[in-house]
Amino acid sequence: MILQPFDPWKSRLCTCPTKMSLNPYTGCPHGCLYCYASSYIPCFAECRPKVDLLKRLAREAAKVEPGTLVAMSNSSDPYPPLEKELRLSRGCLRILKARGLCVQVVTKSHLVAQDAELLADMSACVAITVTTLQDSICRRLEPGAPLPAKRLAAMAKLAERGVSVSARIDPIIPGINDEEIEEIVVAVSRAGAGHITSSAYKARSGNMNKIISAFPQEGAALESLFAGGGKVAGSCYLPAGTRRDLMLRVKESAQREGVTFSSCREGWAAVPGINCDGSHLLISMNRLKHKNNTEGQQAR
Ligand code: SF4
Repeated sequence: MILQPFDPWKSRLCTCPTKMSLNPYTGCPHGCLYCYASSYIPCFAECRPKVDLLKRLAREAAKVEPGTLVAMSNSSDPYPPLEKELRLSRGCLRILKARGLCVQVVTKSHLVAQDAELLADMSACVAITVTTLQDSICRRLEPGAPLPAKRLAAMAKLAERGVSVSARIDPIIPGINDEEIEEIVVAVSRAGAGHITSSAYKARSGNMNKIISAFPQEGAALESLFAGGGKVAGSCYLPAGTRRDLMLRVKESAQREGVTFSSCREGWAAVPGINCDGSHLLISMNRLKHKNNTEGQQAR
């Protein structure tokens, strides 16, 4: 199936709203060291389009209730360089729009901005991940992904066109990108993000070894820090106090910038009116559109 229920691991700490998941591509070229999908998808670095994607999506989308939220994507980026020529994610957006489905795009790529007009004309919100503002860290941590400035510029372009945008500052890895928390929050909010979702690094299936190889000094300290943590749904968690302190820093910075905040799979209680994945932005945008339409009709 192309459209699948979200949260394959059914983590007890996942507070996401009910949604479907759609990955137009299998595999991802971004090479993020902390990626968990690379541990269970063969030849993960070779990004390839799903076979007969658009035909299958059209068939499956026709059976989904209009208004359902579809997250695109969770185990590969929907805007890899291939998207420049194939435009498959754009094709998916058109199909989902025609069926009246709501979409949440999750990406690290500036290429999402090429669909700004389409996204602005449908029930969509976009979450762009920014883990660092430093090119040197980005090149080591996410070696195939676009640099931070490109992601911020995409965020600004989408926001200017009226697309609801959130930022994922995720994961925060002590010793690697935690020093920048406040700066990242300021940069993404000023680029137009209306919400920030954040999470501390959760080590899973060998990705810790990749981090230790790329960041030997920081990696050793990180490994010992994990010794005081626990395990949830197959992921190793940092000690609760460390995670709480990191999340509080993001939260307080977000409050200073006037944007909403949520943590992801940290065990924090849900805040009324805020979806942990930022999809409440989409709902408020829909309400605003409805209000504008109603006011427009009344004025006529
Ligand atoms: S963008 Fe996501 S799916 Fe792609 S390598 Fe990075 S973490 Fe994995």
